[in-house]
Amino acid sequence: MNTDHSSSTRYWHALENGKLQCDLCPRFCKLNDGQRGLCFVRGRVGNEIRLLSYGLSSGFCIDPIEKKPLNHFLPGTPVLSFGTAGCNLACRFCQNWDISRSRYTESLCDSASPEQLVRTAVAHDCRSIAFTYNDPVIFHEYAIDVAKACHQHGLNSVAVSAGYVCPAPREEFYRHMDAANIDLKAFSERFYKNICGGHLAPVLETLEYIYHQTNTWLEITTLLIPDENDTDREIAQLSRWIGEHLSDEVPVHFTAFHPDWKMMNHRPTPLDTLQRARMIAREEGLKYVYTGNLPDPEGNTTYCPECNSPLIKRSGYMILDWALTPQGKCGHCGHRIPGYFEPTPGHWGSRRLPVNISRQ
Ligand code: SF4
Repeated sequence: MNTDHSSSTRYWHALENGKLQCDLCPRFCKLNDGQRGLCFVRGRVGNEIRLLSYGLSSGFCIDPIEKKPLNHFLPGTPVLSFGTAGCNLACRFCQNWDISRSRYTESLCDSASPEQLVRTAVAHDCRSIAFTYNDPVIFHEYAIDVAKACHQHGLNSVAVSAGYVCPAPREEFYRHMDAANIDLKAFSERFYKNICGGHLAPVLETLEYIYHQTNTWLEITTLLIPDENDTDREIAQLSRWIGEHLSDEVPVHFTAFHPDWKMMNHRPTPLDTLQRARMIAREEGLKYVYTGNLPDPEGNTTYCPECNSPLIKRSGYMILDWALTPQGKCGHCGHRIPGYFEPTPGHWGSRRLPVNISRQ
């Protein structure tokens, strides 16, 4: 294991003014010696940019895969989840801001090698390891090493990301990911610029890249924030873009915001906003649209788009009923449902189990 938590990186180049530019994400931080990028976990050390959080995590937990959220990827199975400190966006509504905006990398973090993580996942019968809580793009080298270790032991790697990454590192990253949930935070440049400190276009490019150029299973999440990204028009535009540029078969999750971090003055998202968004997306032709973060039996259920039978009934993250054939088809009309389904669902339920990696 790399014990000093520092790892060399590839995606940067020297500028004529003596600074080094990080080329991992579209922020393109230009760093003097000793400076860290906005993500905080990558920084300039002498004449190179290094990842300074290799093997460090903000904690480990076993979750249901539905919590990522992924509804069409090994439903009902447990996933070992972790993140690190830092993030390359600065969303004012961040629900994990204590992790993503952390500046105390060493003191906040547990330590784990890729092999320790895999041993822990196997010991708890997990089927996957997920990079979540903050964006795995910023700990690119560590995430890829963990994904490689996963594949050596028959586990899957899952990325939960905002998709804010440059083309070359994106290509390398998604070669190693089996599934991804990409946060499409809104469908306006204004939102990305004013509320996240980023841009929309690179995220749309990532979505197109994953769907069309990789074998990574893709689902999309949009957190709806009252008065910021929840108009009928914006939801329809977002849904139409997914149908036209990706596919009407990509599962989409509309989830509820609760006041957090720098957006304490906004009200929580009401259930009828999620239900309205789901209705609009379905009217735009999307076949698998879910609501999340609030109880909503209909919005949590997978329906057959052909005969409209309920196929996977859920209560939150818990599977209540299963009507898929062992081949992943509708048990009523035989329509194929896209995703990675096993003959029977997992039985993890809705548990959230913190784990101590150092004891594995
Ligand atoms: S990955 Fe970090 S250091 Fe690199 S450009 Fe993005 S925010 Fe800056």
